[in-house]
Amino acid sequence: MAGDIRHDWTRAEVRALFALPFGELMFRALSLHRRYFDPHEVQISTLLSIKTGGCPEDCAYCPQSARYDTGVKAEKLMSLGAVLDEAKAAKASGASRFCMGAAWREPKERDVEAVCAMVGGVKALGLETCATLGMLTDDQARRLKASGLDFYNHNLDTSPEFYGEIISTRTYRERLDTLAHVRAAGIAVCCGGIVGMGEGEDDRAGLIATLAALDPHPESVPINALVRVAGTPLAALPALDALDFVRTIAVARITMPKSVVRLSAGREELSDEAQALCFLAGANSIFYGPKLLTTPNPAADHDRALMTRLGLKAMPAEHARGEAPQETSFPV
Ligand code: SF4
Repeated sequence: MAGDIRHDWTRAEVRALFALPFGELMFRALSLHRRYFDPHEVQISTLLSIKTGGCPEDCAYCPQSARYDTGVKAEKLMSLGAVLDEAKAAKASGASRFCMGAAWREPKERDVEAVCAMVGGVKALGLETCATLGMLTDDQARRLKASGLDFYNHNLDTSPEFYGEIISTRTYRERLDTLAHVRAAGIAVCCGGIVGMGEGEDDRAGLIATLAALDPHPESVPINALVRVAGTPLAALPALDALDFVRTIAVARITMPKSVVRLSAGREELSDEAQALCFLAGANSIFYGPKLLTTPNPAADHDRALMTRLGLKAMPAEHARGEAPQETSFPV
């Protein structure tokens, strides 16, 4: 079992996982999933856009970039009271973690102060806290930690080689530096990527190999399917094959067996059956609520019904943090 947790996955090994027959890949993924988690538990997060639109960055998939005409209006940072109201509602509908997203390249000093107050308030409600605010310095990461921040999301998006096709305004190295600042501050890392942006299988393998090389592995690994938003440069790409998405989840599960793997953006375009395959492949977290920042997400009622149909239940926060029942064995 100790050998399951590796940080030395080569790109060739990860490629070989992608190339496995589908049934074999699924078998390996679901076997590892139940070695470390109760396979019937799904961690529920809610994501709120606390500062929408007007972002100076040029991420080609993002409707919040000021460079693309997507109909997303730039808004100011939400007030503390409005954020706390949303957090209370998220808690009441079963979320254990509340994620706050701001469309910034990086937060200014006064932004950090405001977000620290939000983090403290959300934490006081008994929710886990997560933020995604762009690049952070080590000092900013320490201040967020001191205010009660549990998780910081900062995605690598894709492989180092394909990255330049998607973003030109910040480097892959800068992303890794922010992750290092977050880790050094003692904040848990939420880091994943996006599938369906025109990348090849080698890029998917490159993304997973880079994530799996992080030591420790990110505690949360969101795997997103591209949402092709009109007005963004990627809007006209063909739809992602759902089985390719399932494969990516399975490979993330095998290479990072103790991480919570989140079925993130793009769920709205997946059938219930494809989502069921994602859960079998080892996804054990979802975003819950009608919107993911600015793009649609399945309605909460639909998610509740799907979880009931699949016999899934909400994961207690301590399980998602790596406490029991990890390492307890569920019968294969
Ligand atoms: S993904 Fe984030 S950094 Fe990139 S354009 Fe969108 S809001 Fe800005």
